[in-house]
Amino acid sequence: MAKAKEQKELTVSDLPGVGPSTAEKLAAAGIDTLLAVAVASLGNLVTESGVSESVARKMIQAARDMMDMGFETADTILEKRQNVSKIKTGSETFDEVMGGGFETGAITECYGEFGSGKTQVGHQLAVNVQKPIDQGGYESKVIYIDTENTFRPERILQMAKKAGLDGDQTLKNIKIARAYNSDHQMLLAEKAEDLLKTGEYKLLIVDSLTAHFRAEFIGRGTLSERQQKLNKHMHTLLKIADMYNCCVMVTNQVMAKPNVMFGDPTQAIGGHVVGHSSTFRIYLRKGKKGSRVAKLVDSPNLPENECMMFVTEGGLSDKDE
Ligand code: ADP
Ligand code: MG
Repeated sequence: MAKAKEQKELTVSDLPGVGPSTAEKLAAAGIDTLLAVAVASLGNLVTESGVSESVARKMIQAARDMMDMGFETADTILEKRQNVSKIKTGSETFDEVMGGGFETGAITECYGEFGSGKTQVGHQLAVNVQKPIDQGGYESKVIYIDTENTFRPERILQMAKKAGLDGDQTLKNIKIARAYNSDHQMLLAEKAEDLLKTGEYKLLIVDSLTAHFRAEFIGRGTLSERQQKLNKHMHTLLKIADMYNCCVMVTNQVMAKPNVMFGDPTQAIGGHVVGHSSTFRIYLRKGKKGSRVAKLVDSPNLPENECMMFVTEGGLSDKDE
């Protein structure tokens, strides 16, 4: 307890090498807590604060020492887990597969072919998270990073109506940014922290996570550069999920896997970088009679599982209406 209190009293200005002007620059860059300095990358800190690399290194080290970070006792983790909320999808079978819904504090990746329903799931979550907690929501606002220009307010209105929410208010609670290229997308994720700090936003959607990266880095020679940038982006998203107990939902495309004779001949873009950063991975595909199949591919606390659901006029559902 005493330690927690101590932490509150220390600020960025208490770090070695941080005078008022550096503190101001850091604050302007959104690096205004010890934790933010402790988890900042060296390069980022140098660029934002203008200090030398060796000073930046000392700042990060000092922030880490002051924060007493690194190991946490298991009871603290349990306490954190108790803050985890689950956002319901609208389909009971899908919720079941997800262990109750989309978790806050984690990244969930939905991947699948064009038209498999990834954007529909994103829209549905953006509506459902606004519902009261006892109805499977989180009374939260939404940040939506749209890279393919597929966000449709009309679709939100349809879903809000079905959910019994006020359409106008539901739209007002969603902050959308169009990302024009991968750098812009990365910047938007970083800037999202300004909104997250208000505590009003518990859902961040990136639809699509990989489209820009895929289009901009073509050819073998650019693959490692792409993976490096994607890795950095995933780290930003992980930090957001963890620091703000935010549900981060990203969509991802699949590509044809050459030389596959057995099993599914497709695989998600981004490889290990995306796959290993996501806590949950869901493979979406079209099923029989207009249904969608959601398969939980990766998860720390659930067995592999899949279910069938429908994308209907009112949104995700267990029945085709
Ligand atoms: P992805 O993002 O994976 O490419 P989408 O989420 O955009 O796929 O899915 C598009 C599909 O969702 C459409 O082909 C259609 O089947 C279904 N869909 C979209 N809007 C509606 C609606 N209002 N009513 C019923 N189905 C819809
Ligand atoms: Mg889409």
